[in-house]
Amino acid sequence: MTGHVLEFLGETKLELGPVGESDGIWRTGRDDAGVVWLVLDKQDTSTNTISQDVIRTLDSHIKALEADLPSALVIRSAKESGFAAGADISGFEAMTDEGAADLLKQAHGVLDRIEALNCPTICIVHGAALGAGFELALACDFRIGVTGASFGFPEVQLGLHPGLGGTVRLPALIGGTDAMTMMLTGKTAHTKRAKSLGIVDLVVEERHIDGAVAAVIEGKINKHQPGLTSRTFGLDQARTLAAGQMRKEAAKKAPEQHYPAPYALIDLWEEHGDDPKAMQKGEIESFAKLLQTETSKNLRRVFFLRQKLKQAGRGDDGINHVHVIGAGAMGAEIATAAAIKGKRVTLGDIETDPLGKAINRAVQICKNKHLSTLQTRDALDRLMPDPQGYGLERADLVIEAASEQKELKEKIYQGLKGKLKKGAILATNTSSLSVDELAGFAPDKESFAGLHFFNPVSQIDLVEVISGTATSKKTAQRLAAFCGSTGKLPAPIADYPGFVVNRALVPYMLEAMVLMDEGVDKRVIDTAAIQFGMPMGPVALADQVGLDVGLHVAESLSESLDTPMPPISDDLRRRVDSGKLGKKTGAGFYDWSEGTPRPDADLEQAPADLTDRLILPMLNACVEILREGIAHGEDQIDGALIFATGWAPFRGGPIHYARARGISDVTETLQRLANDHGPRFTPDKGWSALG
Ligand code: NAD
Repeated sequence: MTGHVLEFLGETKLELGPVGESDGIWRTGRDDAGVVWLVLDKQDTSTNTISQDVIRTLDSHIKALEADLPSALVIRSAKESGFAAGADISGFEAMTDEGAADLLKQAHGVLDRIEALNCPTICIVHGAALGAGFELALACDFRIGVTGASFGFPEVQLGLHPGLGGTVRLPALIGGTDAMTMMLTGKTAHTKRAKSLGIVDLVVEERHIDGAVAAVIEGKINKHQPGLTSRTFGLDQARTLAAGQMRKEAAKKAPEQHYPAPYALIDLWEEHGDDPKAMQKGEIESFAKLLQTETSKNLRRVFFLRQKLKQAGRGDDGINHVHVIGAGAMGAEIATAAAIKGKRVTLGDIETDPLGKAINRAVQICKNKHLSTLQTRDALDRLMPDPQGYGLERADLVIEAASEQKELKEKIYQGLKGKLKKGAILATNTSSLSVDELAGFAPDKESFAGLHFFNPVSQIDLVEVISGTATSKKTAQRLAAFCGSTGKLPAPIADYPGFVVNRALVPYMLEAMVLMDEGVDKRVIDTAAIQFGMPMGPVALADQVGLDVGLHVAESLSESLDTPMPPISDDLRRRVDSGKLGKKTGAGFYDWSEGTPRPDADLEQAPADLTDRLILPMLNACVEILREGIAHGEDQIDGALIFATGWAPFRGGPIHYARARGISDVTETLQRLANDHGPRFTPDKGWSALG
């Protein structure tokens, strides 16, 4: 909760019921009216997850309540962060097929007994109730949402579907269509939507919780009843029809051969949607099976890669005030991201027009992120247009996001000499210039580094934190911590042409252009990449990045790398010269007037080595980066590519994919490609260290 008045008054305390005993996981207490509060408060963590221990201890509490029935049961969390972030997935790794099914059956038994308790059961949710946390809430008779509460089933992002009764209870509560949409998309329902869907029976401010609980117990609150349409799904034919449509929708985003979970869920609902007992049995079996799929294992790996990157962002950044130079596409979003997370931000530009646009953009971003009116107002209060650059002298961090010209950046840095506060960091968002070279112009080399955000900053979490040879450790650490404190994932790396992500991506895009020069249709090329699992083909990606930007990065990489790169196609240069720059001008290789191109071409006639020609050079570049000591290990590279580019997450990252496919298979294929198409495919020397 934010806002100046509330800051002054202090945070609202969570109402946790009567003080009672704690077993390290649950706090329990019974009030004079016989209402029992079970408060989830796992020790040594700021966020509740639903682990086996949580279920085991819950089991004994429910047993005690069955023996000594309360007048009502209230379940909530004591954590400020929210209700529960879902199942503890670190526990999944050790589970075998049968072990998983047994554990799930026990956990289902506990939730079923909560549902069967012969007294009103009420779940209070503040913050997020996700996955198994949401399922626990669903087992209660009533849900009270505290303003800001949200509910979701993110399991599909882990290659799974809900496994603790969610597939049974959510459709029963809100109807098949809305429930399946939530489970298939993994999208969260925020408070207002949760109320209109019927997930929560009432929404109150925290200070009214006591009154709300009393109202429920006194029978003053009507339980949500699913609408008429949901009853039509009791008919097999209606479900079959809807399931067909759901499969079609799912196929557009997640092909079955890569992402089996949505299809398993649709099958389950189609088959058993009218029979809760059979659905529950089917859910357990299906979940246990999905746990063992490579897709789920790799997607769980992605979850841990995120955690690992996050760890680099721990610690204090000592940054309260950020000044951003350049309010263009990047500067506006960087400034907004920092302001939303509580930094005071001044934003400068030589033109006034971009400053106005930046504020409009900030409003839009706050809206997209579902910030409350208060949070939006606070973020905008902290974000100050500063055409005169008054903020420079006060800033703890200056981020330069001006146009990509070395001479311009040199001039800007020279103008900063003697102006910056002692201890202030200067960071550049350059995507293609050498950090070491730019450091030569900076007021202080030790406190200068690269801070490479990706476009759009509001959607892409990864940030490359690039140390030049003179960058101090403290500077790099503070920048990584700044990423952490602004909700980003830092990848601390060394200076290198293209850094990590662009070094790997450029050959992918350039090879696509070589293939087009050879006469292969762009739609065939993009389809091959999408079928491999990339979120977008290389031709559409080049258009999206901007052909001028892409050309600039490609030229700079080709000049500065020892490794041979694909030749830069004349067609690309011609398009840039004629002003066809891609998405931003409405046309590049594709016409963008009707939105993002999503080609789905027939690959029957495609060259047999098409996918390898696109994908393997990325893997080769990753191994080069590893060998050169630019990144900190394989996981960091895999994480960087996944979180910056959406690199086929179900394959667990480029190096993980190379290992799964077999290092010798990859290097032999690269060698064959080098023989057929040229030395740009020659396997990097670094592969031998992986074999
Ligand atoms: P942009 O053209 O949208 O914005 C640049 C802004 O800098 C403009 O508003 C311009 O008026 C301003 N500017 C120019 N000279 C200035 C000066 N002397 N002082 C203050 N402001 C000045 O460019 P962008 O896409 O936001 O890129 C900015 C930086 O971010 C570049 O270094 C670029 O390489 C890098 N970058 C861009 C992307 C991307 O996809 N656009 C991605 C990553 C990094």
